[in-house]
Amino acid sequence: MKLSGFICAFSSLVILNTVPLSAFSQTTSPSITSADLRQRMNILASDSLAGRRTGEPGCESAARYIAKEFKRMGLRPLDPAKSYFQHYDFSERAFDSTKKEKTKAVNVIGFIPGSSKKLKDQVVIIGAHYDHLGMGGKNALDTVKAIHYGADDNASGTVGLLELAEYYSRHKASLKRSLLFISFSGEEEGLFGSLNYAKNPLIPLEKTQAMINMDMIGRLKDSILIVEGMGSSPYWKILMDSLKHENFLMRYKPDGVGPSDHSSFYRKNIPVIFYFTGLHRDYHRATDTKDKINYEGEVEVLDLVRRSIDAIQSKPDRIPFTLVPEDTTKKIGTFKVYVGGVPDYGYDGEGLKLSDITPGSPAAKAGLKTDDIIIKFADIEIKNIYDYTGALGKFKPDDVVDFRVKRGKEVLTIPVKLGKRGEAH
Ligand SMILES: [Zn+2]
Repeated sequence: MKLSGFICAFSSLVILNTVPLSAFSQTTSPSITSADLRQRMNILASDSLAGRRTGEPGCESAARYIAKEFKRMGLRPLDPAKSYFQHYDFSERAFDSTKKEKTKAVNVIGFIPGSSKKLKDQVVIIGAHYDHLGMGGKNALDTVKAIHYGADDNASGTVGLLELAEYYSRHKASLKRSLLFISFSGEEEGLFGSLNYAKNPLIPLEKTQAMINMDMIGRLKDSILIVEGMGSSPYWKILMDSLKHENFLMRYKPDGVGPSDHSSFYRKNIPVIFYFTGLHRDYHRATDTKDKINYEGEVEVLDLVRRSIDAIQSKPDRIPFTLVPEDTTKKIGTFKVYVGGVPDYGYDGEGLKLSDITPGSPAAKAGLKTDDIIIKFADIEIKNIYDYTGALGKFKPDDVVDFRVKRGKEVLTIPVKLGKRGEAH
């Protein structure tokens, strides 16, 4: 997930190959199991892929692994040269002035054709970005120079994408519409991979019926599953209501624009669904490691994602697109301060609820607690996350700000000395 919301050099295959392909041999089962997820996670969130930063060898290795799996599963490459790679350049100089040249990167794309004469021309994109932060840096929330494994962000979505690709490669006959699996890179730097695909689609975008994005689906907690993009089609509500999801506490959000790759498709008038299990204290830190993944929970999430794809298959006509009314207050601004409370994305009420407090952070030092609900920040009323990030933008590091918080039945005023974003605590 891209940081600014809140909170791979690949010119040819002869270049650096740090991990032998034999290390990527898979023996996954046809159904989606936690053992399969673990096996894939052990590869993607390993030391040898070094945090999969776009433009770096670890990211290349990840792309090779994904392509090799697509091939093994029998997905079709769409490129005339029979490659699963969609190459693109992006300039990192806007983000990192030490970079002189454009960074070469790839999306990895595999296709499974549908079998209905009438519907196979219609395409559903299943997407997940596979890049992360490498050794940290500008987009990290810590300052340690260490591998940022990105197990949840977004090896979790990538292993999910591979498992779904494997599942549908064995259930082709059940597919009426065609499925296009895209592993994006360049996401953390600014959705570059998905923007590139939306600009240079391998199948005309008019034929793309829907885009389903998985970004950070590995930390299911308290059964809360966040589903964004619900406002991008009137059909999504009907679809979700038709699925059994009593294992989950569903949290629906209308927004088609969010801090991940589905935004690039929503902006092209394509209905989107974004699956997400929520933020946590390890987000964009070196501590986002594979041992913290809820594998059983991810199996359940993927079962629901799969059933939502199946339900789309059975819809006889096009999936209509609607624009979500843009709420101008929903622009998340930039801010320089750091608090250390993790917003609870599953919370629907007024105010900003904290799902966790980062140890040692300004929030922790001031005595803010998990489940506190921030209702006022200095003089600014906080009704939602947008109010909160807007308020943060008005202050600078070392300012002491009164947080008004609800804690159970109490309402407390807690002064917090704001930290500096990107600084270790
Ligand atoms: Zn991220």
